[in-house]
Amino acid sequence: MKCVKVISFKKDLYGLVKNLEAQMRKAGVEIRLNTEVTQERVEREAPDVLVLALGAAPIVPSIPGTDSPRAVLGTGLSEPKVAIGKKVVILGGGLVGCESAVHLAQQGKEVTLVEMMEDIAVEANVRQRPILLDMLAELHVKVKTRTKGVRITDQGLVCTDDSGNETLFEADTVVVSVGQRALREAVTGLLDAAPEVVQVGDCVKPQKVTEALYRGYHAGLDI
Ligand SMILES: Cc1cc2nc3c(=O)[nH]c(=O)nc-3n(C[C@H](O)[C@H](O)[C@H](O)COP(=O)(O)OP(=O)(O)OC[C@H]3O[C@@H](n4cnc5c(N)ncnc54)[C@H](O)[C@@H]3O)c2cc1C
Repeated sequence: MKCVKVISFKKDLYGLVKNLEAQMRKAGVEIRLNTEVTQERVEREAPDVLVLALGAAPIVPSIPGTDSPRAVLGTGLSEPKVAIGKKVVILGGGLVGCESAVHLAQQGKEVTLVEMMEDIAVEANVRQRPILLDMLAELHVKVKTRTKGVRITDQGLVCTDDSGNETLFEADTVVVSVGQRALREAVTGLLDAAPEVVQVGDCVKPQKVTEALYRGYHAGLDI
């Protein structure tokens, strides 16, 4: 959830994170930052129950150029060392791609959003989606659907249409935002670390905060 801090229209979500932190501290939960949970560490601490909430990682598509200095992961936009050029192409029109487009357009970038499916932000809820689409239109974000990113070059993102015709979308920065994958390998490595192991949140399936909180709360009730 570190990503929400710098995005102006996510301040309520950031507030929720700070509120949860305050509630944990008040309830006497010991919070250890910069501490990687490994099988050895868990065995040393010997908890009765281990709750795994390891989260998800961004998917890196298997197209040439994702290692180019022009390519940036959508989840990395809030990192101070990540420089974003004036002309930006966003690869992927899911929620993260659309919100990244709004955020960057609000900063005065020229943004084009490329999505291979028929539509964008399909996973947004019925109240959120029209607002998001209006914001994209008001900020003059160019939206290209049925357009598939096939390689990142030193000029931008090359895409194909339904007929296989190639078009170059020029960009100083290509923001790669094609989804998240659950950190299943990390979970699997910890499944035998404690007598009882419970999995919650995005490490089971990448979803949203509501689902992660719901599962986490019910895991707590069950213990
Ligand atoms: C860019 C982006 C924007 C999003 N925006 C929204 C939004 O607006 N609204 C919404 O509802 N949802 C949003 N989501 C989804 C939401 O962030 C997740 O559903 C939610 O954070 C899942 O919570 P979690 O606790 O399962 O995982 P996370 O919040 O990802 O937390 C997992 C934590 O575990 C830590 N960790 C991993 N492995 C280890 C280890 N071995 N040892 C110690 N720590 C470890 C990680 O560093 C991380 O801090 C967004 C996701 C992304 C990527």
